[in-house]
Amino acid sequence: MESRTTSISQDFTNGTPRDQQWMRHAMALAQRAETSGEVPVGAVIVRDNSLLAEGWNQPIGAHDPTAHAEIMALRAAGLTAANYRLTGTTLYVTLEPCVMCAGAIVHARVARVVYAATDPRAGAAGSVFSLLENTPLNHQVSVQGGVLAEECSDMLRQFFRARRKMPGERG
Ligand SMILES: [Zn+2]
Repeated sequence: MESRTTSISQDFTNGTPRDQQWMRHAMALAQRAETSGEVPVGAVIVRDNSLLAEGWNQPIGAHDPTAHAEIMALRAAGLTAANYRLTGTTLYVTLEPCVMCAGAIVHARVARVVYAATDPRAGAAGSVFSLLENTPLNHQVSVQGGVLAEECSDMLRQFFRARRKMPGERG
């Protein structure tokens, strides 16, 4: 066993071509959110390299503070799988999950989370909090950040520049 000297648990990489392909799918969903005037965040849930569910950020339109992309995808995946446990799945999301979404991801027993842009204000996959891996919880989620981070960060930056809002709020 090799002990790592870094204190940061985030694993940054551009990801495999397969990871990038699913992240591009999530980016297309983020653009759908943006078209509706929502902060552009998209998520997909994949099992055995097949699409299980899609979600995009929609708290404003849905009048629902919990309607983050990840929550929408988790709900859809549960219905599709007819199971509230989503074991063996990977969740791809264009922005690092918040505390609420990280909690839901753990409840769902998602195996792996791949995200693009970090959220230095509210990220719960290592940036501000670390709720997915190396936690005292009985379910650990493997995390990989930074896949297509530049493109997803640009999308968010441009959105907030146009809206002249500060990043860190989803609605
Ligand atoms: Zn969230």
